This record gives sequence, C-alpha cells and structure tokens, in this order.
Amino acid sequence: MIYLDHNATTPLHPRALAAMEPFLRECWGNPSSPYRFGSEARAAVELARARIAGAIGSEPAEILFCASGTEADNLAVRGVACALRSCGKHLVTSAIEHQAVWNTCRALEAEGHRVTYLPVSPDGVVDLEALEASLGAETVLVTIMHASNETGVVQPVEEIAAIARRRGILFHTDAVQTAGKLPVQLAALGADLVSFSGHKLYGPKGVAALYVRAGTPLVPVMTGGTQERGLRAGTENVAAIVGFAEAAAVAFAEAAAEGRRLAALRDRFEAEVVAAVAGVRISGARAPRVPNTSSLSFAGADGESIVLGLDLAGICVSTGSACSTGDAAPSHVLLAMGLSAHEAQGSIRVSLGRDTRQADIDATVRALAETVARLRHISSVRGETG
Ligand code: PLP
Repeated sequence: MIYLDHNATTPLHPRALAAMEPFLRECWGNPSSPYRFGSEARAAVELARARIAGAIGSEPAEILFCASGTEADNLAVRGVACALRSCGKHLVTSAIEHQAVWNTCRALEAEGHRVTYLPVSPDGVVDLEALEASLGAETVLVTIMHASNETGVVQPVEEIAAIARRRGILFHTDAVQTAGKLPVQLAALGADLVSFSGHKLYGPKGVAALYVRAGTPLVPVMTGGTQERGLRAGTENVAAIVGFAEAAAVAFAEAAAEGRRLAALRDRFEAEVVAAVAGVRISGARAPRVPNTSSLSFAGADGESIVLGLDLAGICVSTGSACSTGDAAPSHVLLAMGLSAHEAQGSIRVSLGRDTRQADIDATVRALAETVARLRHISSVRGETG
C-alpha cells in the first residue's frame, strides 16, 4: 500500500506507541483519584501538558486536553461565543473552514448569533480587507484556520491576529493541519486560542489540545466534572495524552527538516503529474502551503472515480476532507476559490508523510496517468462533457 492521505490521519509513531504502553498495561489509574496509583497517572498527564506547552511555546496552564480536533474547535468557538454573549453576538470566519468550525458557526447562527463567512482569493487566501470591513462593535471572535486541510494553503494568521487584537477581538485558529508540519511556535502566532489534534501528527486518535491564552474568557461546552480546570469534563485519556505529547515532541523537532524534504517531494510530484497528464489544475499552487499537501483537479475525470481507481492500484488518496467523504456535494473550499462545480468534482487531495519516498511518488504518477486516461476515455465514449 502507498498511503498518501496524511491529512486524513497519520500512522502512530513508534515512539508514541512505546510511550503509551505502560499507561495501557500498568499505570491505568484515574488521574483524579487521591491515592498514589491515581497521582502517578496525574503526573503523566501534567508532564505531557508541559511537553506540549514546550513544543508550542506556551505555559502548561494554557493547554487543555480534549478528545479530538473537532472538540477543540467546538470548545474554542462555542466556548468564547457563549462566554461573551452579553458583549456581542457576531463571529467572523472564512468560507474555507473545516466542518468542525463551519458547522459550529452554523449551529450558533441557528441559536441567534450572526456569522460572517469571509471570501478567499483564487489562491485560497482569506481577504484581509474583507476581514477589516467585517469587524464591528458586536464582533466577539474571529476564527480562521491556519492551513486548509484540502489545499494546504496557509493563512496569514499573524496579520489576522494583529487586526483582531487592534480591535480588542479574540482570535482562534484551527492549526490541526499545521501543528508539527510548519516549524512555528503556535503560541507565538498571536492567536488567543489554537486547536491541534494528535492523530494528524503521528499521535493516537481521540486526543487533541486547545491552547487558551491566559485570561481568555471561555465557558465549557459539556457539563460534568471539574477536569481540565472545569473547562473540559471527562476522565483524561492518559495513554493517548502521553502518546500525543511524545508524537508532538518528535513532530515539532523534525518539522523544519521534514518540511524541506516533503516540499521537495511534493513539488516533484506536481511537476511530474503536470508533465504526464493534460488538463491538470493545482489549487493554491502560488500561495504559501504546508509542505505535504497537493490539491489537483483533472478536467473530464471525477475525483471520486480517481480515488477508487488509485485504490485498485493500492494507493490511498482522498477527494478532500475525510470528514466529508460520502458527501456528493463539491468541496465548499474549492468552490470558494472559484473552481466550477465540475472542476471541484474532478479534484483529489494527495498528502505526503514521513514514510513517503520518491518511488511512491513515481508509482502514484504512473497510476494517476493511467486512471485519468481511462476515466476520460469512458466519459468520451459516453459522450459526457465538462
Ligand atoms: N480541523 C482540521 C483543519 C482538520 O483537518 C481536522 C481533521 O481532518 C479537524 C479539524 C478535526 O480533527 P479531529 O479528526 O481530531 O476531530
């Protein structure tokens, strides 16, 4: 199998697995229990918190653990919106957010909030003039992702943070697709809240973190116990938290070198595809992107069929967000960038990872050229257009 869908999930790093094992086998106490068996688990959680804080440049007390990137996004967006309800009910986001933010904004709209969805340029970058123009006295939160899971395009979050700060408005960024991929200290981006997830950086699934700058108003979105300073109820998943911290330490330490390797591989991949297949469009190619991601549209071939064709050749890629697989609608991200519905439907996402080598790229380009040629032939025989 050639796995080129690392934006959907990544394999567990062997060091993360090794770090987790003692907490699955022996040290499985509840961190909230008062006896030593519990305090050993508590110590492991707090060490993991300190390691994650070290990796992103924050204080340990500014890290909240939760069960997914989706949950971290929900807590950030809903938690701030609800905490500041009496100050205003306007939120600003972008037209390209992941469902975790997008659908939370939609739900808040249904509950009486007003949400502005900022447009993006054809390269997929949020329009900063539109951002400035959207902010008003009622605006309590700007939430814009650090990089798109579909195109890899990196947003100018430092500038967005500065704009929001000048107006005294809180800023959240979903850094699920940049944590451990870009050599940046997430806490130095200037955002008040930053979400990131374990399974996108070679940690386990079902664990994530929300950085909350000290003093940021936030209320919990779940009722229950007082874990995580009362902001995220539920017994901590100790083994997953420990594995997440180990994986994050490795990913952040290796981000610069691995990023250079992946960017070179990705650029060669795109050049080879363009040389081997006619009618290819690479979304966001002129914008800054995370190094591992390529979003390609093939005129006259359907993305879902390309994914299935490559699967027959043992190659895993996706049509876009793994969370919207099975959703026949064209990607809202690509439509927002100005692709037609046909172009968006002809798109696939290829995302490289730490095990990807040149031979994988070569085999994928060959399989892609064959698959697209076959699909185009079938649609020309059927007399389909577009
Ligand atoms: N945000 C982005 C940008 C993502 O890519 C994802 C996962 O695909 C999420 C949030 C959700 O993360 P999780 O799968 O941990 O819920």
